[in-house]
Amino acid sequence: MNILVIGGAGYIGSNTCKALARAGHKVCVYDNLSTGHRDLVQWGPLYEGDILDGAALRRCLNEVRPDGIIHFAAFSQVGESVRDPGKYVRNNVGGTLSILEAMRDTGVGSIVVSSTAAVYGIPAVMPILEDVVPAPINPYGESKLFMEWMLADFARAYGLRWAALRYFNAAGADPEGETGERHLPETHLIPRALMALDGKLPDFHVMGDDYPTEDGTCIRDYIHVSDLAEAHIRAIETLVSGRQAALTVNLGTGCGLSVKRILEVIASVTGRAVPHTIGPRRPGDPPSLVAGVGKAFELLGWKATHSGVEEIVRDAWNWYRKDSAR
Ligand code: UDP
Repeated sequence: MNILVIGGAGYIGSNTCKALARAGHKVCVYDNLSTGHRDLVQWGPLYEGDILDGAALRRCLNEVRPDGIIHFAAFSQVGESVRDPGKYVRNNVGGTLSILEAMRDTGVGSIVVSSTAAVYGIPAVMPILEDVVPAPINPYGESKLFMEWMLADFARAYGLRWAALRYFNAAGADPEGETGERHLPETHLIPRALMALDGKLPDFHVMGDDYPTEDGTCIRDYIHVSDLAEAHIRAIETLVSGRQAALTVNLGTGCGLSVKRILEVIASVTGRAVPHTIGPRRPGDPPSLVAGVGKAFELLGWKATHSGVEEIVRDAWNWYRKDSAR
């Protein structure tokens, strides 16, 4: 296939480009480099442009003539979305609208979109199944849910084929160290803990230890970015081949790990304890998020195979050392 990866200069996007190229597909990247990085675009040409620029998108689609699109170009920080909700509506919702209209106008029929466990809000039952009624509790989750609704609306109106992949906690890095996460600022647990043990983050803290969980810290379902990349390939293949026309699936492992457990694994993998204090809760953090994973296996034949927590931490640590030495 010939695949256009929008947001392919970012963390999950660049890992997916590598996996696509390795599977024999042709890859082009469209990215405005606002949060992505030019040096992470290694598996196909870069079209530098913004998703809100419909004319530039149409030019790119007419030139590349992709069989399908994988769309990662979204802002993804919960706290920022609470402080600056318009940014999330404009880019995540407005940008996706612009992509869907450009697809309609240029005859591109299939799209895979990053969605998130944040669409579920604070679910009553764990693990979370896809048929739970979504109830996001922050503008980030709301923007992703609206994106999903737009996909369904465009499918009804114009016959678009689509997949919304609801990620749980993306983690780890390319096992060969060619790409990984580089967020500015970094907000995620594992890279922040690695920065702390490397002496680069003096105020690292566990955000709350009074949750109703076994050790009082939040439980999350950490999924290796290589597993996410593989799921995107299966999803776009499934749409382009016509096997499915619409998919909404969780991508996780089905296993929850607490923040304290992650810090223990980091200490055992790196041989260094993570200096930390216990701080207050972060507003908007649900106590526990664990994926129900049966639907992804049933519809895509996909399940996590690289998401053992030691493997995740090992690959994240290798990437951290390589990238911070640059
Ligand atoms: N967390 C923490 N300290 C940090 C960053 C995150 O204790 O410096 C916690 C956070 O409260 C959550 C978990 O780690 O319970 C995962 O947070 P992350 O930001 O990595 O992902 P999220 O679950 O928000 O998507």
